[in-house]
Amino acid sequence: MLDIRNIVILTGAGISAESGIATFRGPGGLWEGHRVEDVCTPEALARNPALVHRFYDERRAALAGVAANPAHDALARLDREWHGELLIVTQNVDDLHERAGAHRLVHMHGELRSALCGACGVRETWTGALPPESECPNCGTCALRPDIVFFGEMPYHMERIEAAIAAADLFVSIGTSGAVYPAAGFVQMADACGADTLELNLERSAGSGLFADSRLGAASVLVPEWVERLLAAQSTQSSPMSR
Ligand code: NAD
Repeated sequence: MLDIRNIVILTGAGISAESGIATFRGPGGLWEGHRVEDVCTPEALARNPALVHRFYDERRAALAGVAANPAHDALARLDREWHGELLIVTQNVDDLHERAGAHRLVHMHGELRSALCGACGVRETWTGALPPESECPNCGTCALRPDIVFFGEMPYHMERIEAAIAAADLFVSIGTSGAVYPAAGFVQMADACGADTLELNLERSAGSGLFADSRLGAASVLVPEWVERLLAAQSTQSSPMSR
């Protein structure tokens, strides 16, 4: 049995699927019927800002109609009750982890409810529509864009994430296809640093073979079960904890 104190959890679109937010689907990786290259690259934003802004306006508006599910709730409970270090790293741009109550959380691919100024770099909370040429409240330039990390751009919080993985005893990946880098490489990083690795996903992912253990099923079932077991082991003070 492994002694676990420091945990890093990576989440992807699959953890929000049962809340009614679509994942990437289809062989071409369609996102709500759009090719990723048309809505998720700097080139797409330059070519057709109206389409890109409208796409994220729709995703942002849709957040009002969804709620956290038992998987988000279970991770928020783990965040509250886990005595050791914990970092939830989400690739998701929705806000369901924080609505469930998670605090030890970073959004590595940006947030729907945020706008980014292309001129001064400020990030502003943004809950309504964001038309192209919206004025930055900080510098006044009309260069606000959705605060989404597009393909080819540097994800947020990489230093903090890498430091947490280097110190982790356990790395857990939930509801992610393992197709988007650098997140897809975190399991190898964790393994190289000596952490145990666990995947919870609906089906085998591109990276399943890289995990010491891979459990298949719906996040709303697997995640609460896993959290329950981990917290039960924590409360048995004298016993070593296992994943
Ligand atoms: P992905 O769509 O590529 O893969 C989702 C994975 O989740 C798949 O392997 C699928 O089998 C699994 N899955 C589906 N339903 C599940 C369930 N109920 N329980 C457990 N697993 C389930 O997602 P990704 O790997 O996160 O990459 C997508 C990228 O697109 C991310 O960078 C993200 O920013 C963006 N995205 C975000 C959202 C969101 O914020 N909710 C939604 C779609 C896409």
